[in-house]
This record gives sequence, C-alpha cells and structure tokens, in this order.
Amino acid sequence: MKTSDPQSALWASTAASAPETPPLTQDRRADVCIIGGGFTGLSTALHLAEAGVETVVLEAEHPGFGASGRNHGQVVPSYSKHAPDDIVARFGKERGEALNQWVQDSCCLVFDLIRKHGIDCDAVQNGWLMPAHNAERLAVVRARHDQWAARGAPVEFLDRDRTATITGSPHYIGTWLHRNGGNIQPLGYARGLARAAQKAGAAIHAATPALTLERAGTDWRVKTPRGTVTADKIVVATNAYGGGLWPSLAKSIVPVRLFQTATVPLSDNIARSILPEGHSISDGRRVLWSFRKDRYGRLVVGGAPVVTVNVRQSLRHLVAGHIATVFPQVGEVRLEHIWDGRIAVTPDRLPRLHELAEGVYAGLGYSGRGIAMATGMGKVLAARATGTPMEALPVPATPVKPLPMHALSIPIARLTIGWQRWQDGR
Ligand SMILES: Cc1cc2nc3c(=O)[nH]c(=O)nc-3n(C[C@H](O)[C@H](O)[C@H](O)COP(=O)(O)OP(=O)(O)OC[C@H]3O[C@@H](n4cnc5c(N)ncnc54)[C@H](O)[C@@H]3O)c2cc1C
Repeated sequence: MKTSDPQSALWASTAASAPETPPLTQDRRADVCIIGGGFTGLSTALHLAEAGVETVVLEAEHPGFGASGRNHGQVVPSYSKHAPDDIVARFGKERGEALNQWVQDSCCLVFDLIRKHGIDCDAVQNGWLMPAHNAERLAVVRARHDQWAARGAPVEFLDRDRTATITGSPHYIGTWLHRNGGNIQPLGYARGLARAAQKAGAAIHAATPALTLERAGTDWRVKTPRGTVTADKIVVATNAYGGGLWPSLAKSIVPVRLFQTATVPLSDNIARSILPEGHSISDGRRVLWSFRKDRYGRLVVGGAPVVTVNVRQSLRHLVAGHIATVFPQVGEVRLEHIWDGRIAVTPDRLPRLHELAEGVYAGLGYSGRGIAMATGMGKVLAARATGTPMEALPVPATPVKPLPMHALSIPIARLTIGWQRWQDGR
C-alpha cells in the first residue's frame, strides 16, 4: 500500500483480495457521483445502490487507500471526547439523543453489514475497552460508563482485577466495556464494502481522481483524467485527503497524522496472555494509546507522537517503552511494521454533515472514530441524496466553517498533543 513508509503493508498483506475497480475511461451519467472510496463513500454507495439509485464512485487511488485502509480497526460505539450528556447539553434532548443513538447504531451497522454481505475481515464483536491508568482518568471512564448505562447501552464497569484479566495487563485500574464494540481488519472491510456495493449495482473506478467539480445546467459535472461523470447529485467523501477539490471543506478540518505499529507475531503463550478474549483497547488517556492483536498474534499499537521529524526512530523508542509499561510480558519489542494515515479532526471533535451547494453533500470529521461513524454517515448521506430532508437526519447539518489560520492548525495540534501527553503522565 502506498504511504509515506514502505513498511506499511500489514493490512495489505493480510486483507482479502480487492475487487476489480477499473479506472473511468469514458464520459457517463449517474444519479449520484461519490468522490472518495473510503468507508464514507463506499457505505454511501452501498446504501444508494441497494435503493436502486445509479451510483458511481470515483477514487483517486484504490478503495481503502485513505484512513479506511490504514486504521487500527477498532469499531467504537462512542465519541472520542464527549460523553452522551455533553451532546444533549449542546444540541438539546431530541437532537442530542438522536445523535447519541446514531453513534450506537452506526457501530452495530458495521457488524450487520459484515454479516449480511459475508465480508471477510476478521470481525470480532465482543466488546471494546476504555481502561484508565490513574484515578483522574478513571473518573472520566466511570462517567462515560454511567451515562451510556443510563441510556440502556450494553455496558459494564470492571474493577481492577477484572480489568487485569480482560486486558492481560497489570497497568490499568479499571475500565468500561461496551459490548457492541469490537474490531475488524480495516482494509478487508473497505474491500468488502466495495464488493458489496458493486454487487448491488454501483460502479467503482479506482485510479480516477476527481479533478474539478462544476455546475452543468441543473446537473453537476466531475472531470477526471480520462472521462467525466454528469450526475444529479454529488457526495464528497474525501475526509482528510480532500486537497483542493472543495477548498473551504479542506480548511474546515485539521488533517492530523496518526501512526500505527505492529510487532512481529508474538509467541503463542505471550499472545494468549494479551487481550485473551480478543478485545481491543483505546485507553482513557487524553492522547490515547490503542492496542489489539492481528490474526497472527502481532500486537498492533497506535499512538500519536508529538514530533513527526525522524518519526520511525522516535516511534520505536516510544512504543517499546509503552509496551514495556502495559504488557511487560512481551519482553524485547521487535516492531515489524510502522505506518501512518490522516484523520480529519474538527474543533469540537464531532462529525460534520454539510450541504455544500444544492445537491452536493459531504460527511467527514470523525476525529479518529470513523469506522462506525463513517459507515453510519454513508447511510445518512444516501438518505439525504434520495430526498430525506436534512432536519429528519440524525446528524445535525451545519454550514462549512473554514478554520481561521488553518495553516497553523497542524503545529497547534502537535503542541496540544505534547501538552496533553504531559498531563497524562506515563
Ligand atoms: C492511523 C489511524 C488509526 C485509526 N484508528 C481508528 C480506529 O481504531 N477506530 C476508528 O473508528 N477510527 C479510526 N481511525 C479513523 C478512521 O479510519 C477514519 O475516520 C475513516 O476511515 C474515515 O473514512 P472516510 O471514508 O471518511 O475517509 P478516508 O478513508 O480517508 O477516504 C477518503 C478517500 O478519498 C479519496 N480522495 C481524496 N480526494 C479525492 C479526489 N479528488 N478524487 C477521488 N478520490 C479522492 C482518497 O484517496 C481516500 O481513499 C483511524 C485513522 C487512522 C489514520
């Protein structure tokens, strides 16, 4: 897989094969043209095609090229920063609870689609863990548990001993467990969504970047290097990879680079001692660390380094130190893969649904929780493109707001990560 790092091939080397997605080589029409072939675009395509809508997906590289094929694979039924009460305080009871329910439903939608379409992606839906390493973070973890429990979500709070058993780590002092969460092989899931969308009738063209998007009478026309698509409606699903196609959209999010690493396969007994029931962890730190195993017993670890210069070297050091803290049984840490991808972070860490112009819709900004939310957003975008009014959708639609001093947003994000890591302690 093409990334800034040649050793990024973990998911590419273990994913089910990709469907045929030939480039667009002629002009054509469609009801809806989707730009971007990650979870957002592919889920939109699947839902539209199943509704009988003539759908074309244009992907600059290949399905799953962006964050969707590079992520940690944790399907999380929760926001990155907020507890559900925060959402109600912000949007009011009716809209707030609709968004809370959508986040829960989006997580289940991922596993429902995997089952329905027989997607081969190592899916495990036996729960997701957010453990805490100190008393201050435990209070945050407890509040998340309590607030989701009050809404009837299938959650549990585990004490120190049960946390040690379920994680295989002596490091954490408690956790909440959401039983609807789980993990997947992300590139396999992207490819499976693409295949399911094709079976339902969508056309997917890889190696076909949308170069320009312009009005053509009452239609929209998308130019690509070797053909144009003329469509009634457009869905922009480019998240943090969007570049100049719709400049104000790109300036409305911070494209943060996240890193993933994977050890060599661990010996059977050590692999069995870590997350023995196959759960995944996004810990309760402000700058979270994430852990899971892959199919072959590699420990896959995600984190956000503060400095991205000479990142391989600093990551080796940082990750080895953190594995020694959390899973000391690993002993000498041998990293086999290091890779990165870009997420779209919004200032309030909430996803965005936009109507960019009449008939042009966009969904993005999942702030690191996009497996469930992007899949759910695809369903929402498909509903909008087939006529559901914005007010009837579970995600509130907002105008696009470019961030002031966008060029400084990445250095500011890095400084914030440094400050928050210092607050987290080890
Ligand atoms: C390292 C990492 C770890 C993560 N871990 C998790 C996790 O464990 N759990 C979780 O829920 N979320 C996680 N995320 C976030 C999640 O992966 C994303 O939120 C989600 O994949 C976003 O999907 P998307 O389809 O909106 O965007 P993307 O998958 O980024 O897709 C956008 C696509 O648009 C294409 N594109 C851009 N411009 C054009 C154009 N002009 N023409 C055609 N195509 C174009 C790109 O090539 C790309 O394929 C992680 C992300 C990263 C990077």
